[in-house]
Amino acid sequence: MPLRAKVASSVSRTAAALSRAAGRGDGSVIGGWIGLKIDPDLLAHLAAGRAIALISGTNGKTTTTRLAAAAVGVLGPVATNGFGANMPTGHTSALAKAGQTPYAVLEVDEHYLPRVLVATEPRVVALLNLSRDQLDRAKEVAMMAQMWRTALAEHPGVHVVANADDPMVVWAAAGSPAVTWFSAGQRWHDDSWVCPECGSPIERQADQWWCTGCSLRRPVPQWVVEDEGVVDPRGAWHKISLQLPGRVNLGNAATALAVAAQFGVRPTDAVSRLSTVASVAGRYAQVVRDGRNIRLLLAKNPASWLEAFDMADNAPTLLSINARDPDGLDTSWLFDVDFSPLRGRQVLITGDRAYDLAVRLEVNDVRFQHVRTFGEAVRLVPPGRLEVIANYTAFQDIRAELDRVL
Ligand SMILES: [Zn+2]
Repeated sequence: MPLRAKVASSVSRTAAALSRAAGRGDGSVIGGWIGLKIDPDLLAHLAAGRAIALISGTNGKTTTTRLAAAAVGVLGPVATNGFGANMPTGHTSALAKAGQTPYAVLEVDEHYLPRVLVATEPRVVALLNLSRDQLDRAKEVAMMAQMWRTALAEHPGVHVVANADDPMVVWAAAGSPAVTWFSAGQRWHDDSWVCPECGSPIERQADQWWCTGCSLRRPVPQWVVEDEGVVDPRGAWHKISLQLPGRVNLGNAATALAVAAQFGVRPTDAVSRLSTVASVAGRYAQVVRDGRNIRLLLAKNPASWLEAFDMADNAPTLLSINARDPDGLDTSWLFDVDFSPLRGRQVLITGDRAYDLAVRLEVNDVRFQHVRTFGEAVRLVPPGRLEVIANYTAFQDIRAELDRVL
């Protein structure tokens, strides 16, 4: 590395360590920011010589990155941004901190994918899904798909691993010369009824989808979730035992195996490592308090709420909604989510915007109780499972409250 990059990398690590010592989070954003101020090409310098996978999409990228890093770990140490710092500052910090690892698996915010492609020249890019996110700041889904498609066209050497079940992802990836398709399912269809190629309606039947006006249709996936396992491109079925709940995470595991295969990792060698992942930055974490087994699920946009309902047991459920800056300020997305799967469960609501949620639940005919604190929720439910589904800052609030109590 050039001297300037070495200095920048060293200062970046020190800044991150100081930030951690001061109790200000894991320091990866500030460390990366300072490093990039000293050497604007620091990310490219740190990426050079490593085999890198980038993982992007609206939902599931933190979990899939964690699973893919575990799978690639069969080969040796892997640099990764495990705490969701998914912009170039976070990537810079993760690589500076890791030192000379031959491999890196990086979660990338979907807006930053073109820029990070240029800086890191990855071997593999995994595209998970595209759906509406924060209403007041995110790009339109179709614009994002176009941006990905254009960026990938400029990097024909990159191997793309993409979700065959999401028409927007398929269209973004379809121009790339080397694509491996996986099937991870798509529960949320409301952002892909219109073909991004020709504007005609998209039709669906069982697992299949096709455009009624052009040749865009679901490609045949090489990696498929089947029963409690994953079928690989050679047709062999591998049992997947995850500590993470839901079929969504089986799909994430299939993606992780497909990414690792591009590094030469065989699924038979990787599956046992997937089962070591217990929680991801607090998500899916389980804690016991007063005889209640509390599980934390993060849901930040309509598609991920549907997934959370699928992952949650049929048990008392606490929903918490905030609308602070990281969450997006507009809560009208609540009306995009069908809350009817919660009917018949004991439902408690809390958070800054609990009343917005209350209106939504009324309309969906779901009965609920409002609570002011997490402790109150715990007292109101019987011993046993309590599912907690919260959006971003509400999730952080509950984690902090649990940490204080435990
Ligand atoms: Zn079409």
